[in-house]
Amino acid sequence: MKHILITGGAGFIGSNFINYFLRKYPQYFLINLDLLTYAGDLANLKDIESYAFIEGNICDEGLVKDIFARYNIEAVIHFAAESHVDNSIATPSKFVQTNVNGTFNLLHNAYLSWFNAPHCPKSGKENAVFHHISTDEVYGSLGESGYFTESTPYAPNSPYSASKAGSDMLVRAYFHTYGLKTLMTNCSNNYGPKQHDEKLIPTIIRNALQGKSIPIYGDGKNVRDWLFVKDHCRGIDVVFHSCYFGESFNIGGGNEKSNIELAQMICKVLDEKYPKETSYKEQITFVQDRAGHDRRYAIDFSKIHKFLDWKPSESLESGIAQTIDWYIHKYRG
Ligand code: NAD
Repeated sequence: MKHILITGGAGFIGSNFINYFLRKYPQYFLINLDLLTYAGDLANLKDIESYAFIEGNICDEGLVKDIFARYNIEAVIHFAAESHVDNSIATPSKFVQTNVNGTFNLLHNAYLSWFNAPHCPKSGKENAVFHHISTDEVYGSLGESGYFTESTPYAPNSPYSASKAGSDMLVRAYFHTYGLKTLMTNCSNNYGPKQHDEKLIPTIIRNALQGKSIPIYGDGKNVRDWLFVKDHCRGIDVVFHSCYFGESFNIGGGNEKSNIELAQMICKVLDEKYPKETSYKEQITFVQDRAGHDRRYAIDFSKIHKFLDWKPSESLESGIAQTIDWYIHKYRG
C-alpha cells in the first residue's frame, strides 16, 4: 500500500482532493498533516474514515522528520499554505513562514528520508515523488489579451504570490540539485463546495442570502479564470501519476469572468432559486480596491491537455449551480 503525505488536507482544495482521491484509489493510505488554522476544518473530511490525521505545522522540523520515518512516506502532495491574498497584505510574515519555510522543511525532509546523497536515492525510494500545489498568481498580471503558459516569467505582485513563487523556486532547486522527483501544478482560481467563507464566491452567496451588500473591489473589472475544484483534483491526479519530473503544468478552467460579471451571474441564479421582490443584483456594491490588485489572470492549459489528456469537464454555469446549492444548504440549513 502506497503511503502518501497530504499537507493541508482539511482546507478547501485538500479536503476535496482527499474525498476524490480515496474514492478512486482505495489502495492508497493517506496521512493528512494540517495545522487546523482558521482555514482548516475537519468537518470537510467527515465522510472519510480510512486515513490518518495529524494536527501539526509543516514548519515543525522534528514532527515532519518523524512522520516520514513513522509512516514510511513514499509521496507527498503539498497543499498546505496561507492562501488568502487580503490576509497576505495584512500579515505577510505568516505567508513567508508557512509557504516558503514550510515548503522548504517538507522538501528537505523528503530528501533526507529518500536519498543517501544528491541524485542517489535509497533502495526502495527510487520512485518517491513530491507534488507541489501552486498558483497562476506567480506569473503576475496580464493585460487585455494573452495567457499564462508554463514558460511565462514569474512576476508575483502580492506577498501571497511572492511566497508561493519562492516555494516553487525551492521545488525547482530540489529537483536540480538533489534529484528529488518533483511535480508541480499551477492552477487558476478554484471554486466549489467547502471553500472558506472569506473567499469571493462564498461571500457573494452569503451576503446575497443575508440581505447584505455584496462587496466588489474597485470597478469590478478584474478578470479571473474559474476552475471547478473537482476538475482541479482530476488534474492533480493525472500529473501525480505521470513521470514529468521537474516540470510544471498549468491547470485552468477556461472560464474567464470579471468579478462583476461573476457576481451578476450568481445573483441571477439566486433570483431563480430564491426569488424576492428585488433582484439580488441590487445588493452589489463597489468598495475600495485591494492594494496592488492584479488585473487579469488567464491560463493556457494546452500542455496538460496535450501530454496528459486533461481538460476541464465542468462549465461555469453547472459548477456555479452546484456551488450555490452547497452554500444554500450551509447558510440556510
Ligand atoms: P485553504 O486556505 O482553504 O487551506 C489551507 C489548509 O492548510 C488549511 O487546512 C490550513 O489549516 C492548512 N495550513 C495552513 N498553514 C499550515 C501549516 N503551517 N501547517 C500545516 N497546515 C497548514 O487553501 P486552499 O484554497 O485549499 O489552497 C490549497 C493550495 O492550493 C494552496 O497551496 C494554495 O496556494 C493553492 N491554490 C489555491 C487556489 C484557490 O483558488 N483556492 C488557487 C491556486 C492555488
